[in-house]
Order: sequence, then C-alpha cells, then structure tokens
Amino acid sequence: MKEDRLRSLAVCSACKKKIGETGSPMFYTVKIKNHILDAQAIQRQQGLAMQMGGNGALATILGPNEDLAVTVGEYKEFMVCINCFRGQVNLAESVE
Ligand SMILES: [Zn+2]
Repeated sequence: MKEDRLRSLAVCSACKKKIGETGSPMFYTVKIKNHILDAQAIQRQQGLAMQMGGNGALATILGPNEDLAVTVGEYKEFMVCINCFRGQVNLAESVE
C-alpha cells in the first residue's frame, strides 16, 4: 500500500484511533457499496418464470439477464483496526 492510500486510511473508522496508536501493525480495509432492489425488474423476472411454468432457472437462462439490483453511489473504503475487527464493528457508524 502506497503512502497516499495509507494516509487516507490512517484512522480506524470504529474507534477513531490513528493506525499507529492501535497497538498492532495489522489492520483491515473494508470496501462497501450500497445497492437497491429494482422491483420492476424483479417483477418482470418473476413474470417470465411464471410463463415458463414456475421454472425460475429456465427463466434465468432464457430471460434478458437484467440487473435485479442497482448500485447507489460509489464504493466507500475505510480502515478498521485489528482490535475493533475482533470486537463488534457497527459498519453503518463506520461508513458515516
Ligand atoms: Zn479501532
């Protein structure tokens, strides 16, 4: 990991300690992205499966293979120190 990236991840998102103050040289990076279900695409896929006698696998093969969920926003990446990783990390609080 290059210096600029390490500096961008220098603070644990859970305990807010700097990476050098956590007592361990080990840490984790977490990359997270939001997705939302596309209800209309799911309904179309279910409708196609119903037309094929309820065979969802056949509908998957013969269907348009469209995305049933769409991504919202960009990836967010953050660091979690080894101590917080071994404990309980609230990802929602870490992302904010
Ligand atoms: Zn921590």
